[in-house]
Amino acid sequence: RINTKKITTGSQALDGLLGGGIETRTMTEFFGEFGSGKTQLCHQLSVNVQLPLEKGGLGGKAVYIDTEGTFRWERIEAMSKAIGLEPDSAMNNIYYMRAINSDHQMAIVDDLQELIGKDPAIKLVIVDSITSHFRAEFPGRENLAVRQQKLNKHLHQLVRLAEMYDLAVIITNQVMARPDMFYGDPTVAVGGHTLYHVPGIRVQLKKSRGNKRIARIVDAPHLPEGEVVFAITEEGVRD
Ligand code: ADP
Ligand code: MG
Repeated sequence: RINTKKITTGSQALDGLLGGGIETRTMTEFFGEFGSGKTQLCHQLSVNVQLPLEKGGLGGKAVYIDTEGTFRWERIEAMSKAIGLEPDSAMNNIYYMRAINSDHQMAIVDDLQELIGKDPAIKLVIVDSITSHFRAEFPGRENLAVRQQKLNKHLHQLVRLAEMYDLAVIITNQVMARPDMFYGDPTVAVGGHTLYHVPGIRVQLKKSRGNKRIARIVDAPHLPEGEVVFAITEEGVRD
């Protein structure tokens, strides 16, 4: 994987699992149950991308596409302070966009090429979550074809951005703890495997005791198997 750069997650264990951190030119998916830490990781990475290279960042900016309304500036403030970044500039280096429905979400991504052209400091694009609007607007089997078609187009557009501009793309996907409950849900098959096929890295997150979380890489032949534990603290993602 030549020429990719890495962004630290804040946890050495999780970085190790990922082969050094979140990669540019790649789409990384965090999937897991509610409360497993997907959104906190997205916040942390939108701060960490701003760190200088020697501290595990890319000296870059982030685009944060929020589909569920769970983004909190207070978390950016706390996380940036904790790693020695000036909170006001850390907040200024995040382009926050609230997507109100799936058409809006796709339109935002359509327009990103222009924004990144104007501001090449953008090194990270986050969509939290990729699936929520699509699930709500196109429920059940009868909408399977149109949902998959739209989602696939959207995902491939994101992958293209990652490759063209040497940036990292992070998407999240909420999956219930019991995968058998997803029988009949076209985006998630038994075992938590999504039915969309796009290149990238998939990381499953699970709740553990207290503030501990477990991460596991799924379907990535070039990365080691196994699980790691990390923590979500007031300061952010840590070992
Ligand atoms: P998901 O997006 O996977 O549903 P989140 O990333 O929103 O989950 O994780 C929520 C969890 O993050 C909370 O249950 C809590 O444990 C932790 N968390 C959120 N905010 C804070 C905070 N300010 N301090 C410590 N932990 C926090
Ligand atoms: Mg979330």
